Amino acid sequence: MTLCVKDSHSRKMSAARFTHSPLKEHSHVPRLYDSRKRILVTGGAGFLGSHLSDRLLDRGHEVLCVDNLFTGTKRNIDHLHSNPHFEFMRHDVTFPLYVEVDEIYNLACPASPIHYQYDPVQTTKTSVHGAINMLGLAKRLKCRILQASTSEVYGDPAIHPQTEDYWGNVNPIGPRSCYDEGKRCAETLFFDYHRQHGLEIKVARIFNTYGPRMHSADGRVVSNFIMQALKGEPITLYGDGNQTRSFCYVDDLVDGLIRLMDSDKALTGPVNLGNPTEFTMRELAELVLAETGSSSSFVTRPLPQDDPRQRRPDIALAQELLGWKPTVPLRDGLKPTVAYFRSSVG
Ligand code: NAD
Ligand code: UDP
Repeated sequence: MTLCVKDSHSRKMSAARFTHSPLKEHSHVPRLYDSRKRILVTGGAGFLGSHLSDRLLDRGHEVLCVDNLFTGTKRNIDHLHSNPHFEFMRHDVTFPLYVEVDEIYNLACPASPIHYQYDPVQTTKTSVHGAINMLGLAKRLKCRILQASTSEVYGDPAIHPQTEDYWGNVNPIGPRSCYDEGKRCAETLFFDYHRQHGLEIKVARIFNTYGPRMHSADGRVVSNFIMQALKGEPITLYGDGNQTRSFCYVDDLVDGLIRLMDSDKALTGPVNLGNPTEFTMRELAELVLAETGSSSSFVTRPLPQDDPRQRRPDIALAQELLGWKPTVPLRDGLKPTVAYFRSSVG
C-alpha cells in the first residue's frame, strides 16, 4: 500500500490498515545472524551517510559504505576504518554493483545546489541510473531498500505545509531540475519496482538537515552563515531573507531513516522527515550570530532562480506510523554544528 493519503481521516484509516500488505510474499535471503545485518549505505562518506553508518554500527550491524567521494570525504569516515564491521568501497552508483547485503540505504547524490549544478547530467544519472542499479541489486538479493528522496520533489510548493499527497510544483527545465526531477524519477522507479517486482521499498522525503560534517563549502545556508560568521565576513541573505526553511538536526533525521527502514513492510512511504519548526533566513542568521558571538553584518544577494519561498514538512504521517518526531531545536543543534565548523576553520 502506498501511504499517500488525502486527509487526517484517511490517514487514520491507512494507519489502521497498513498491516494488510498487498505485497506479493517472497522468500528472504537467509541471514547468518538474526539481529546483525550487513547493510549497504550508498553515499556513506557524505554528511548524512556517515552519521547513518555510525548509528548502524552502534546498533551492531555491518556497514558497507559505497561512495565515489564526489562530495563526501574520507575524513567523514576516518574514525570508522578501525571498526572490523565497517568496509569502504570507492564506486560510482551509475555503474552496476555486485555485492551481498541484507538491506540498502540509497543516499548517493550530491545534495547542495552548487554541487548538484556543477555537473547536472551526472546528477540526473546518479539519481536515475543509481536508482536502477540499486533497485536491480535489491531485486536480485530480495532485500529491502530505502531511498533518500527530498522535499525538493515539492518544488516551490503551492500548499503549505507540505503533505505527502501533494504532487509538487517543479520546473522541469530549470537549474534545479537535474536534482528535483532526478529525485522524482527515482521515486517513480522505486514504486514501479515495488508494484512490478514486489520489492520492499521505503521512500523518505528529507527536508533541510544540518549538523557536524556538513561540507563547509557546499553553499547551503547553514554552512554559509556559520562560516561567514566565524570569519567575520558579511552574512549573505539571498533575496529579502524572508523565505523560510525548517531545519532538522542530523541525529533526529538518522533516527527517522532507521525507523522507516525497520517499519512494517506495508509502509512504503513516501514519508516526510524533517523538523516542522519554520524559520526565515533572517531569523536563522540571527541565531547563528548569537551562537558564534560574531558581529558580522548582513549583505543581500539576488534570490537564485526557482528558490522555494516557503518550506515546512507536515510530519503527521511519520508521527503516527513511525512514532517519530524531531527532538532537537535549532538553537541546540547549532551548538555542535558551530563547534564542528570552528574546529575545521581553526
Ligand atoms: P552529501 O553530498 O554530503 O552526501 C552525498 C554522498 O553521495 C557523498 O558522499 C557523495 O560523494 C556521494 N555520491 C554522489 N554521487 C555519487 C555517485 N554517483 N556514486 C557514489 N556516490 C556518490 O549530501 P547529504 O546531505 O549527506 O545527502 C545525502 C542524501 O540525502 C542525498 O541523496 C540527498 O539528496 C538527500 N537529502 C539530503 C538533504 C539534506 O538536507 N542534507 C535533504 C534532502 C535530501
Ligand atoms: N540562502 C541564503 N544565503 C546563503 C545561502 C542560501 O539566503 O548564503 C538561502 C537560499 O536562497 C534558500 C535558503 O537559504 O532560500 C536555503 O538554501 P539551501 O541552499 O541551504 O537549501 P535549499 O534551497 O535547497 O533548501
